[in-house]
Amino acid sequence: MPPSWTLDDAEDLYGTGRWGEGYFRVGNDGRLHVTPTRDAKLSTSITSIIESLVARGYDTPISLRFPQILEDRIRNMHETFRASMQEYGYQGDLRLVYPMKVNQRRELVLELLDVGAKYHYGLEAGSKPEILAAMACDTDPKSLLVINGFKDEEFIELAVAAVELGKTVIVVMDKVDEAELLVRVLKDVEHKPFIGVRVKLLAKGGGKWIESSGERAKFGLTVPEVVHAMEVLKAGGLADRMKMVHFHIGSQITDIKRVHAGVVEAGRIYASLRKMGFPVDTIDTGGGLGVDYDGSGTASQASRNYDLREYTNTIVYSLREVADEAGVPHPTIVTESGRAVAAYQGLLAMELLKRMPEERPLSEAEPAPGDHKIVHDMRATLDNITIKNYPEAYHDAIALKDELTQRFNFGMVTLGDRGKAEIMFRHIARKVLHFAERDDNLLDEFLELKKLLQQKYIGNFSLFQSTPDIWGVKQLFPIMPLDRLKERPTEFGTIVDITCDSDGEIRKFIDVMDVKDTLELHELDERPYYVGVFLTGAYQDTLGDFHNLFGRVHEAYVRVTEDGGHTLDKFVEGDSVEEVLWLVNWQEGELYERMCDVIEKKVVDGRIAADRASEVKETFKAALEGYTYLEKEAVGAQARLHERMLPPRGAESR
Ligand SMILES: *Cc1c(COP(=O)(O)O)cnc(C)c1O
Repeated sequence: MPPSWTLDDAEDLYGTGRWGEGYFRVGNDGRLHVTPTRDAKLSTSITSIIESLVARGYDTPISLRFPQILEDRIRNMHETFRASMQEYGYQGDLRLVYPMKVNQRRELVLELLDVGAKYHYGLEAGSKPEILAAMACDTDPKSLLVINGFKDEEFIELAVAAVELGKTVIVVMDKVDEAELLVRVLKDVEHKPFIGVRVKLLAKGGGKWIESSGERAKFGLTVPEVVHAMEVLKAGGLADRMKMVHFHIGSQITDIKRVHAGVVEAGRIYASLRKMGFPVDTIDTGGGLGVDYDGSGTASQASRNYDLREYTNTIVYSLREVADEAGVPHPTIVTESGRAVAAYQGLLAMELLKRMPEERPLSEAEPAPGDHKIVHDMRATLDNITIKNYPEAYHDAIALKDELTQRFNFGMVTLGDRGKAEIMFRHIARKVLHFAERDDNLLDEFLELKKLLQQKYIGNFSLFQSTPDIWGVKQLFPIMPLDRLKERPTEFGTIVDITCDSDGEIRKFIDVMDVKDTLELHELDERPYYVGVFLTGAYQDTLGDFHNLFGRVHEAYVRVTEDGGHTLDKFVEGDSVEEVLWLVNWQEGELYERMCDVIEKKVVDGRIAADRASEVKETFKAALEGYTYLEKEAVGAQARLHERMLPPRGAESR
């Protein structure tokens, strides 16, 4: 009897308690639940949300967004900073700023500004499109618009326009010659923005984004450059606009020591500038607050060895120390963390459609009287495996399989016999692994069996479109089935996407101590089997690409209600086939006309009948309007079409 399987085992295996931050947990119904405010009163199963969307005619993949999680993150961030300020008697103020590059989705930005209004939540923009979007959001004058990135004159002119619209704008110099640019453009301007300077710190962020900081970083001014820029501003009459020292030592800072080092170094620069007479009163500590993707709570790349309170304590305490020691006022703290704010609200739900290789049932391998002796021997081996003899049985099976291959190559074994023996070999391997895993003296040889038996599950999604960081920076995201968590998962495998690219495969999965090569999954049956890729709300949306022309997925903005149900705030349909073709210049109307021309020609040539020709046109048109991913309906239509094109049954044998 295998030991029984409980919901706690499921929580432990998939780690929801470790990475879920209270937003995701396994429910008593064996489904994964979302609790977007971390208050048990508001909770619903993710599968029920998918089921209601599917009932409305939408297929997965669907990106689910939970505005309530976003709200909770924002509140939590604000309150935790305030608690640290209270604890350490910090006298400076606080401003939260959202870096738009993390996710510029309109719905997310507007929700964030709406919920964040009471905290004067502002925006950070690093490109012209981001500035334009930020300018068009009506925020109150106390919230900041921080402008970063490499700049030209138009950048500065846009900043001036934003000032005229009543915004508090800080243009951050990212390069030393931007001081001259500012002087030139702002010379005769009445409504000048404030100015900040991004400094290149020697302190490094560590982790994957370590190159974002240090002397060789892409952005920021070295200390000699800061000194020079200040002289330029002074000579140009802009010294009184200098307001902020900015630094960003990289995303996903894994080690709290690095936050401390960065804050202290930037604090010193702030104090020095004040002593030089510049009216700086603000320090922007950038982003970088890490997300615990693997739930390990360590300084590993997919985690961080601190929590939010330690992060805010470190910033507040270190700044107070530096300011007090230098005898300057506590600066306003600006925090620009994006990943930690946006990651949790988004998840990708997809269906796993099939497994490869498809395992054939044992019933297809019943030895018959005329079968080769090896087939019969294989069967006897299978029938006689026990926990005591499994190592020998396994060695016997390997020997039989080798012999089989050799004889097959000499033409002494039929294809049918070989098929049966191979089916049985896989069943033997499974049984052996089953016993080996219960044996304390597990040998490496049997661990290898896991590789042999691992499956590929086909997921209806594109890794390049929906989880590009898995490909680009080997990011780990928590991934798990959304249902059937009461059942022990008996299979394990990787997840391949439906692009024609072998890189489109998820081969690494989170684990407490390590990284796993396979994920535990259930045997597929007639029910749809959905898995979720979690914490995908930051960076994945705009880094995603159209490899193989798989388009943007449907997006559902969902609010959980007190009765354990949910409401749909908004649904944004994913790209249709014609929309993605349009991106590569195949204009919709023109493409269809082209197809019709081809068809007409073939009708004239007598290649295709006229009535069939109009059906092909219809199929083409319907596919143009359809989803780029595999659809239940469209797949059916294609199959029907295919069937009609086949010769009538039996024709081939005549
Ligand atoms: C990217 C970026 C951020 C956000 O970093 P996270 O790791 O997402 O918190 C903040 N500030 C600047 C200047 C950035 O470039």
